[in-house]
Amino acid sequence: MDQQAHILILPFPAQGHIKPMLSLAALLCQAGLHVTFLNTDHNHHRLTHREALSTRFPTLHFESISDGLPTDHPRTFQHGGDQIISAIKSVTKPLFREMLADFGRKSELPITCVIADGIMSFAIDVAKELGICGITFRTFSACCLWAYFCLSKLIEEGLQLPVGGDDDMDQMVTGVPSMDGVLRRRDLPGTCRRQPDDPLSQFFIEETKAMTRASALILNTFDDLEAPILSHIAPLFPKVYTIGPLNALLRSRLGDDLSLSLSSSSSLWEADRSCIKWLDSQPLRSVIYVSFGSLVMLTHGQILEFWHGLVDSGKPFLWVIPIRRGAGAEQEILEELQAGTGEMGFLVDWAPQEEVLAHPSVGGFLTHSGWNSTLEGIVAGTPMICWPQIADQLINSRWVSEVWKVGLDMKDKCDRSTIKEMIRTLMEGRGRGEIIRSMNQLANSAHVCVREGGSSCHNLEKLIEDIRKL
Ligand code: UDP
Repeated sequence: MDQQAHILILPFPAQGHIKPMLSLAALLCQAGLHVTFLNTDHNHHRLTHREALSTRFPTLHFESISDGLPTDHPRTFQHGGDQIISAIKSVTKPLFREMLADFGRKSELPITCVIADGIMSFAIDVAKELGICGITFRTFSACCLWAYFCLSKLIEEGLQLPVGGDDDMDQMVTGVPSMDGVLRRRDLPGTCRRQPDDPLSQFFIEETKAMTRASALILNTFDDLEAPILSHIAPLFPKVYTIGPLNALLRSRLGDDLSLSLSSSSSLWEADRSCIKWLDSQPLRSVIYVSFGSLVMLTHGQILEFWHGLVDSGKPFLWVIPIRRGAGAEQEILEELQAGTGEMGFLVDWAPQEEVLAHPSVGGFLTHSGWNSTLEGIVAGTPMICWPQIADQLINSRWVSEVWKVGLDMKDKCDRSTIKEMIRTLMEGRGRGEIIRSMNQLANSAHVCVREGGSSCHNLEKLIEDIRKL
């Protein structure tokens, strides 16, 4: 076991960031490295399986730090995203500096490397101040990262923000290398729909620029998936490690059982496993799985449109409706919907998603195109219908439908008849065969790259070796 290397991993406090970063932590611990995983106090207490993880990975330790927000703050991007960002800067940053310095003074095992979330650049700056190597891990897709890198130039060249309103949203955006002819105004990252001086828009642009101060970049993607885009990003960093899809890499290195248990242990909500029994009773590839991740919130009206669209499609469905997570809907709506759905569908408030996607009854995935969900869909070989709402989801869905051709993009529409038609097309339409063929190829490359000798497997080994040398 390596006695020197000690990595501190700091995710942004959201499910889609914690999960891939905890997967990386497990892979580093599996290789014998020491890892301190630093969550905010709020999320630390919600990771209820921490002790089991530390028992399984004895070199994995959990610590927590204040996010600077009052206990009753909703901590959602929709309600106070700018407050989350400013509290992290004003409260978490100085505490982090103190904590990191203390590790140097008091611990037998000082931190030798900080791996910070790609939107937590302050941690890279603090690490550099203290003479510690800082690596940035952007948990989004490379295509979204590249669009962010090009955004300032696009604005200088005349791109008017926000996009939307009376704009022709199907107009192509030119000037982003390797995206010409694909990227429309509609597909630009979610912040482009906000005013240019909006704090969240500023934050993402500034954080992207700040990432280049890091000693290296880690991405949860794989070379075969985003090669043309990666060739533009690589020169911006001393080193780039593409180590995705992390869930497949975990499975290949730790085996199915341990990787699935890690997946559920990195969840901020307890999954309702009763849906697996329901799936067991459904015909092969018949079910459409519907989930919009941990951040997207639906209005009452949108919930009803989806419900009608799903029922009218005539396909059985498993739907994650995030009632308990403070969505705009009330508990009664869930009960009413479940009663109206009868045998045809199954509603849960959080599902064991990776297990669901791998279940033989599931034939399609109606998703918000969050990056983890997109990769999990690819790894399971499940074709997708995309209903993106924010952040990188808008560009990911375009790549799913137009570049990789493994799904359909329902962007900016939410009416029952479109939903019904999309589901029928994906599940039984003439185009399904072609989508399935592309998906099988992509799923195959995802599995090959995480095996011995594959690009992501090789890059993980290189990362471990480089960290050991620090
Ligand atoms: N997820 C889950 N159960 C659910 C819904 C989501 O385990 O019912 C997991 C999913 O497997 C994924 C993560 O939550 O790993 C969501 O990340 P993603 O990047 O897709 O979306 P975000 O939540 O960041 O919008």
